Amino acid sequence: MLRTLNLDKKYTTDEVETTALNRVSFEIKQGEFVAIMGPSGCGKSTLLNIIGLLDNPSGGEFYFLDKEVSKFSERQRADLRKENIGFVFQSFNLIDELTVAENIELPLIYLKMPSAEIKKRVDEVMEQMQIAHRRNHFPQQLSGGQQQRVAIARAVISKPKLILADEPTGNLDSAHGQEVMNLLTELNEAGTTIVMVTHSPSDAEYAHRIIRLFDGEIVTENINARSFAKE
Ligand code: ADP
Ligand code: ADP
Repeated sequence: MLRTLNLDKKYTTDEVETTALNRVSFEIKQGEFVAIMGPSGCGKSTLLNIIGLLDNPSGGEFYFLDKEVSKFSERQRADLRKENIGFVFQSFNLIDELTVAENIELPLIYLKMPSAEIKKRVDEVMEQMQIAHRRNHFPQQLSGGQQQRVAIARAVISKPKLILADEPTGNLDSAHGQEVMNLLTELNEAGTTIVMVTHSPSDAEYAHRIIRLFDGEIVTENINARSFAKE
């Protein structure tokens, strides 16, 4: 699915240089569920932004679906991103002015899919996420758990190969958090690769593997009980 070799990321603000990632190398296979953990400021968001084709590294190689993408233009990254990646955030990032159904269909509108096909897919994914009864509600009328299910529906509507989740349970109580983790696990078992940043050891147990970052470097890669068998 993706592979990095000696990935570096430096930020320069007011002539002060920060090294956010330092020679980070790893591989994530199609179908894996990987958790990224580490203290605040260790580079997790930076790494997720690069994997998500939102930002380029300063150095090193990054292969996404066998393409070397580290020097792609914003336009090239956007095309690859829209086709292949769904995002789930801690703060849901739904559009308050749009209904549940309208939020969910957005990625397909960007992909210029015919409207009959859009309607069919939105209905399917709303059923799957058990949110169909709320289709005409606005995000602010929903609980946190429901908002995150809408966000996951929006992330999966374009059938991406990769889902990137940044602290997906960070704003949820433990029952709703578990519900979200179960949904992500189901998506993974159906074949979607998942990379998730988390502070929660119990959420990380849903993953096959944990990549631990410290000061911009990988310190350990732990294998979890839920092992990854597929080649
Ligand atoms: P984490 O500790 O896992 O990074 P958050 O992403 O919520 O959790 O970030 C923690 C703090 O760091 C927040 O106050 C956030 O505003 C700040 N922060 C996160 N990303 C950046 C960034 N790219 N630039 C500056 N500040 C950031
Ligand atoms: P994490 O997500 O693990 O909290 P980040 O990737 O947000 O870590 O940040 C890693 C380091 O890079 C931190 O020292 C942070 O302050 C710095 N950083 C992140 N984004 C920016 C940015 N846009 N400009 C300057 N420094 C940044």
